[in-house]
Amino acid sequence: GVEHRNLSEEITSVLPPARLALLRLISRAAQNRQLPIFVVGGFARDLLLNVPSFDLDCVVEGDAVDLADNLADAYGGRITSHQKFGTAKWRLNPKNTALQAALAEESPDADLSALPDSIDLISSRTEFYEKPSALPIVQKSSIKLDLHRRDFTINTMAVRLDGNHFGELYDYWGGLSDLKKGLIRVLHSLSFVDDPTRMLRAVRFEQRFGFTIEERTLRLMRQAKTLLKDVSGERIRHEIDLILVEKQVVSMMTRLADLGLMEQIHPALRWNDDLASQFMELFDLPLPRKYDFSGHPSEMEQKIQVAYILWLLPVFSNNLQEIIQRLRLKNNLSHMIQQAHDANIELDRRRKEPDSRLIAALQGCPPVVLYALWLHNKLTHQRNIIEKYAVQWRHVKPRTDGKKLMKMGVPASPRIGEILDELRAAWIDGRVSSEAEEEALLQHILHG
Ligand code: ATP
Repeated sequence: GVEHRNLSEEITSVLPPARLALLRLISRAAQNRQLPIFVVGGFARDLLLNVPSFDLDCVVEGDAVDLADNLADAYGGRITSHQKFGTAKWRLNPKNTALQAALAEESPDADLSALPDSIDLISSRTEFYEKPSALPIVQKSSIKLDLHRRDFTINTMAVRLDGNHFGELYDYWGGLSDLKKGLIRVLHSLSFVDDPTRMLRAVRFEQRFGFTIEERTLRLMRQAKTLLKDVSGERIRHEIDLILVEKQVVSMMTRLADLGLMEQIHPALRWNDDLASQFMELFDLPLPRKYDFSGHPSEMEQKIQVAYILWLLPVFSNNLQEIIQRLRLKNNLSHMIQQAHDANIELDRRRKEPDSRLIAALQGCPPVVLYALWLHNKLTHQRNIIEKYAVQWRHVKPRTDGKKLMKMGVPASPRIGEILDELRAAWIDGRVSSEAEEEALLQHILHG
């Protein structure tokens, strides 16, 4: 049944004033058109866990596109909508004066920078799956059924906004009870069959909140796990990307492996204590500045690239392309993964050779690859070499350059590059440590 608890107090204490004011505007607009409207998804869950939720997903029992158009008419911003699906996205324009005035009236000290960029408004609907893993067929319905199509009970709670109903908790499917017990539970026995990515989501929510996957849900997962094989690479990668930005990334990956889900993504994927400690080192510390990481993509995105490289380093070379394909990894990432693999094999093969030969294996590797290799090669001579190359040797150049060589009579040819490499290697191996010594070596190379 419906829980008639009112969450107004929680909303007021957890949300920044600008967000609260915005919800009040929506509340009024919906009330004027006699439309029941609810915030759904993570919002109620996070509210009850006392954490502010960032997304605002609203479900309207009625025409969501029409309501969104109305809001934009009154308060500016832009609407992107799909009449056919009953979905609208309202992109706010914080510079709109009507919006500013209305928000100020609700809450004079509202800090507009706390506004979301956009709000999703969706007409309540039910989804039917004609066959497993296919896209659902969508039909208009009540909020109750809309909530039933969701992944887990803790995500089925809704908070009503319109008029006097503001703050009412709608809990048809036992969400609050499971939230209190700390359980991740599917709503029906075919849930994972309808959408196998929910198995990955179950692990993510379980580990994020320190919850437990409920026993029957776990059993359903064991039965359904092979269906992950049929899920598209994009959807799998999307779920993994979501895991890689979570604080509990290591326990999530460990749980995926323990539940046998990782091997369903690809049997050659590995997870072990070494990887766990590499991931911890990667995600707990900032990227070391001495590697000269570039300013973009963002620090987090570069860490995610490092994470993929680390994860795939223990994979045998002959499985690598298959996994890259399976996860639809982007070209530049897949190139870096290959680079790291090749470099790592070479580092190992040349481990008894002089430093200049070892570093030649690293030539051309960007900081993301070098840092991944450094994390991977713990407590080895290779690790020192990688670090020295990244912070020092990468910048070592002989005093001699190509122009000088041509003036000395060396024809424009690959020979010039070879000579420069030889001089550089001499600096790195310590056979040369001054300009005079470099000159002597150059004479020796040229004239024997
Ligand atoms: P997060 O805090 O990670 O954003 P969220 O609960 O807001 O969590 P979203 O991925 O933004 O998660 O999805 C919003 C809501 O849509 C979820 O709460 C859930 O009810 C529903 N949902 C998302 N993905 C699925 C899915 N694969 N199957 C069923 N319901 C889903």
